[in-house]
Amino acid sequence: MDRREEARGAGGGKRLFLGLLLVTGLLLGGIGLATWLVPQVWAGGESWLAALLGAAFGAGALLVGAGIGILVFATLFERDLPGTRRLRGLLIRGFFPPLVAVARLFGIPKEKVERSFVAVNNQLVLRSGRRSRPERMLILLPHCLQVDACEIRITGDIANCQECGRCPIAGLVDLGRRYGVHLSVATGGTIARRIIVEQRPEIIIAVACERDLTSGIQDAHPLPVYGILNDRPEGPCFNTRVDLGEVERALARFVSRPLPGREKDSDTAAGG
Ligand code: SF4
Repeated sequence: MDRREEARGAGGGKRLFLGLLLVTGLLLGGIGLATWLVPQVWAGGESWLAALLGAAFGAGALLVGAGIGILVFATLFERDLPGTRRLRGLLIRGFFPPLVAVARLFGIPKEKVERSFVAVNNQLVLRSGRRSRPERMLILLPHCLQVDACEIRITGDIANCQECGRCPIAGLVDLGRRYGVHLSVATGGTIARRIIVEQRPEIIIAVACERDLTSGIQDAHPLPVYGILNDRPEGPCFNTRVDLGEVERALARFVSRPLPGREKDSDTAAGG
């Protein structure tokens, strides 16, 4: 299974994230229990500090357990458990660093955890069933998709692209035109945030590497971001590529007003 399939949630893409959540919950629960029990066994009495620490770790374990339940419910039943939006936000923003630390204990690279995180996120966005009018959808692209040799400035306005076909920008501009969606090129997180504030999209399809997708999804929450990994045949941040078919399948899945003759695509595409 390649990286992009993992990020789409194919096969075991999501399992790593859920597995790490489970291990983190068990670790916290175990530490909490040990913190509470050890002073009683060794010192023969209760310690309020140990009880407090034990309760704090126990609460953390319960929170992680609840997070797992929310994710599994949302994935299986295609909607949020009532009243869990905030907890899901906490899960997306707050749980990632501890999961990376736990993964490191098992020698799992951060990039793999990020890919699994994107897969879980994509699954949740797909399962939410949300769609958007094309004019309220945004495709956010990294600048490194533009071939290095091109001197045309597309960061301010991607329409400046001459569509010569030397890089994927030409195909993306064509997709944007056909679906009537807005495309923007961001050179970093700050610019991406500014574009989002200006455009006020309802759904974002973002193309980037594992690291930028992860931070972008966390930053934009609760705005739904469907992440598509770029390919880096020449190394990171240089002449990167993207599978245009994957972008089009996502568009067909999320645009609420499909182009004539595309109704069938939108029902089946993007694995939703
Ligand atoms: S398609 Fe051609 S004109 Fe457009 S950004 Fe790429 S190289 Fe430049």
